[in-house]
Amino acid sequence: MVVSVLVVAGVEGVAVNISEYMLSDHFRLRELVPRLPYGNLTTTLTQLEVIRHNLGGKPIMVHSGYRSPEHNREVNGARTSQHLYGLAVDISVKGKTSFWLAGKLKAMQDDGLLIPGGLGTYQRHVHIDFRGKIVRWSG
Ligand SMILES: [Zn+2]
Repeated sequence: MVVSVLVVAGVEGVAVNISEYMLSDHFRLRELVPRLPYGNLTTTLTQLEVIRHNLGGKPIMVHSGYRSPEHNREVNGARTSQHLYGLAVDISVKGKTSFWLAGKLKAMQDDGLLIPGGLGTYQRHVHIDFRGKIVRWSG
C-alpha cells in the first residue's frame, strides 16, 4: 500500500489526498464513500499533525470531527458549523485542562502556525476549526 506523505512545517505523516487512501489492495476510500469533503478533511488532518507536533507529540483525543447534516442535528450543532464542512475538530489532551490546550492553540494561531479559524473553549474539550478567520468563544 502506498500513501503519499505531506510535510508541513516539518511535520510528516498526512496523506496528500485521503480520498485516494487504499482500503484494500484494489479499492480506494472515495469509491466506497464518494461524498465526503476530502479536501477539507485532509487540511484538518494536516493541522492536527501540526498541533500534535507543537504539543511535543502528546496524543490528541478527537471527540468530534466531520459531521453529516443528520449527525450535526442530532448533537444540536450550529446550523453553519464548520464540522459540516470537515474543517473542525473537538479535541482534548489527556491530563491537561481545556484551558491549557486553548492557550497553546491560541499561541499557535497567533504565531501563524495554524490556518486562522475558530477556537472555542469548553469544559471537556476545545473546538478548533480552519475557516480562514479567527473567531474565539467560550462554551
Ligand atoms: Zn466543535
